[in-house]
Amino acid sequence: MHQRAEGDPMDEWRTGASGSSRREAGDADGDATGGEGVEGEAQIDPLDPLQREDILYLMKQLQALSLRKRRTGAPVLSSFDAEGVAKYIKENNVKNIVCMCGAGISVSAGIPDFRTPGTGIYSKVEKYKLRRPEEIFSLSYFRENPEPFVNLAKEMIPGKYRPTPAHYFITLLQKKGLLLRCFTQNIDCLERLAGLPTEYIVAAHGNFDGAHCIGCHKAYDIDQMKGDLEKGNVSKCSSCGAYAKPDIVFFGEALPPRFFMLAGSDMPKCSLLIILGTSLVVHPFASLVDEVGSEVPRLLINNEIVGESVGLDFGAENYRDAKILGSCDDGVFQLAELLGWKEELDALIEEGAKEAAATSSAKEDMATAAGSDNGANSSS
Ligand SMILES: [Zn+2]
Repeated sequence: MHQRAEGDPMDEWRTGASGSSRREAGDADGDATGGEGVEGEAQIDPLDPLQREDILYLMKQLQALSLRKRRTGAPVLSSFDAEGVAKYIKENNVKNIVCMCGAGISVSAGIPDFRTPGTGIYSKVEKYKLRRPEEIFSLSYFRENPEPFVNLAKEMIPGKYRPTPAHYFITLLQKKGLLLRCFTQNIDCLERLAGLPTEYIVAAHGNFDGAHCIGCHKAYDIDQMKGDLEKGNVSKCSSCGAYAKPDIVFFGEALPPRFFMLAGSDMPKCSLLIILGTSLVVHPFASLVDEVGSEVPRLLINNEIVGESVGLDFGAENYRDAKILGSCDDGVFQLAELLGWKEELDALIEEGAKEAAATSSAKEDMATAAGSDNGANSSS
């Protein structure tokens, strides 16, 4: 459904280091904090978009620093943990919660995350001898060598996995009228499977809802592509012969316009930010953290502390950043318990499990009816 943006639809929205395309912090072409080009003023060309981004980014950081120094009020949270956040939600009529999700919320569904050594997706592609594992999501590599991506994408086709308690927690926020939006980096569509209406979801890095040719950008039938992927085949455009791929945003590609539009309008309205299972290293997604108001509390639910480079502060100056370290599921259960929502969360999870059982038995019936030839019947 979404269009692939060639340029940047929301140039002004940018925070600087990131730009509009998907990239990782530390990328040679996008790292604003790198030393190059900073030494001599003579090197700064205000017309160069990258340098202009660097300047904007530095200005923003300086502004944030001076704001931080001037702040003398009481902390926003009574404690920087689950208790503090639950208390804040109960006492402050919090309505516009924004969630930011990463691969960590889908790990318990059986989908490997990207960076965990040994089990992460990037460890699994070692056999392809890529220069960097991220190359598997790069257009130039895909153009020459699509097989690694195809093998990976085959495993990620939606319909093979079920949502996790963390996904259902986000749906529960929405059912209670407390969710403004869920920005997800995940391409697994599990937010939707957990019952979250699509208007609440921003698939920042795209998903399997559609597919396009990487040459002429013509749409490619997604169901046909799912069938191709199941068989391990690379899809080719019928018009120009170039490869086609699902609308998953590769490194260097522009994010969907919907991301910029809603990031621009939602983040200023956000009254609580919940960050779940992301290492906050892929930009521009990670920089959303810094787009909420300076008095807005932010909760990180993750295995480890992350995000300090994008403004989260768990140090002595902290006044609003809470963390629950551990799995996303444990984190949301803790929060649900403290909010008195545990039974409702359990009920949603149970309902989802029943639905999954019904769907899979219906699929089995269909497969039986169709005989042993079960083809590519896995549309969702
Ligand atoms: Zn084409």
